[in-house]
Amino acid sequence: MPAYDPNNIFAKIIRGELPCHKVYEDDKALAFLDIMPRAPGHTLVLPKAPARNLFDVSADDLAHVSRVAQKIAKAAISAFGADGVTVQQFNESAGGQVVFHLHVHVIPRKDGVPMKPPASEKEKPEALAANAAKLATALKSA
Ligand code: AMP
Repeated sequence: MPAYDPNNIFAKIIRGELPCHKVYEDDKALAFLDIMPRAPGHTLVLPKAPARNLFDVSADDLAHVSRVAQKIAKAAISAFGADGVTVQQFNESAGGQVVFHLHVHVIPRKDGVPMKPPASEKEKPEALAANAAKLATALKSA
């Protein structure tokens, strides 16, 4: 597998060199909203430590990212009135990965509403800010 590239866009977000709509952060993980959400509240959960994907992430970081993804999935139910949540994670180009820092997608779902196609529409910053605030509030009261 190719080596981890420290200049990927998510590494820059983790280092604070690029902005994001943050919903959660601790010493080992960061979660922020996807700028092209497949449904409102679509969140990405990342380990802070460098990891290209499932093949090089440490077992501890993978477990921690899973714990954070679970918290966000539960919070999405109250924050967005979701009926369910889709969790996705892609590895290498052949597996659908586009950004090469491991991330888990947590996508709130409503009965009968299909997900938008991947990368179909960039969401307005105001809508992302409002959804990030809703999710962060639901996480704090969980
Ligand atoms: P994938 O690697 O296939 O999981 O796709 C990368 C995801 O990152 C896509 O859903 C993009 O919409 C999303 N994305 C790309 N750049 C950014 C960014 N700067 N902030 C938030 N999400 C992003």
